[in-house]
Amino acid sequence: MADSEILDLEERVGDSEANTSLCLMGKVLNPKPLNLGTITNIINSAWKTRVPVGITPWSNTNTFLFKFGSVEDKIAILMEGPWLIMNNLLVLKALEDGMVVSEIDFSSCPIWVQIHGLPVDKMLRQNVEIIGKRFGKLLAIEATEGGLLINRSFLRIRVEINTNLPLPKGFWLRRNGDSSLDLWISYRYEKLPDFCYWCGRIGHDNKVCRFETKEKGSISGYGPELRTRRARKSDVQVVEIGEVVEAQKEREREKRKKKKKKKKGKEIRGKIKFKRKERHV
Ligand SMILES: [Zn+2]
Repeated sequence: MADSEILDLEERVGDSEANTSLCLMGKVLNPKPLNLGTITNIINSAWKTRVPVGITPWSNTNTFLFKFGSVEDKIAILMEGPWLIMNNLLVLKALEDGMVVSEIDFSSCPIWVQIHGLPVDKMLRQNVEIIGKRFGKLLAIEATEGGLLINRSFLRIRVEINTNLPLPKGFWLRRNGDSSLDLWISYRYEKLPDFCYWCGRIGHDNKVCRFETKEKGSISGYGPELRTRRARKSDVQVVEIGEVVEAQKEREREKRKKKKKKKKGKEIRGKIKFKRKERHV
């Protein structure tokens, strides 16, 4: 068999409309393929971007490329997520140079979680961080520097959830070292999509669950009470830990790229001038 060819391919140069920094790749977590028209209608009415977003179907696995009019619009949509398509989770991921879509991991997604049932004296910033770190990745917390966080009856954190794992339901809080006094502290997820009440995972329902049997699944303790609406706006500061840092990095990357392009442009113009001078000599 003949050796396969090896090619070096060109990359985008200069300002062009097709720019990966303006794009997000998204996957709707639903075993059934969804129609492009349905997705386009839902996205157009939900995302109030300055320029309408272009949507290209990327595969038959509910993966779509979203092209934005500006980096600011793209970041705003990422930060306001999660987004639901007919109650199915749309996982959005930024594209990086050299990235192949089949290599993107769509199993994690940011979401706001409310922590309900804490004794008032435990509603402290330190505890928001302790609880937040129980999740895989803590992205932001709603907190002030000192004192009790009593602007709401619950604490609030933004975390990255792993859709391959059951959603954490809450935890037992030990009181006075006495297990008989343990208090159940429950999590409620804002804008939570449909999920499986048998195994607690997002992306399928109990009709097609391959993780739990009906016997075990029916006593899993999962139900609609895990879901809640987006909390009303509050005066309490949101302390960004991961997401905004990423967004800032992206803005800086764009600035550097633009500077580089300007520099290249000057160099090229310089060379042309030099050649013209040569001709005159
Ligand atoms: Zn399941």
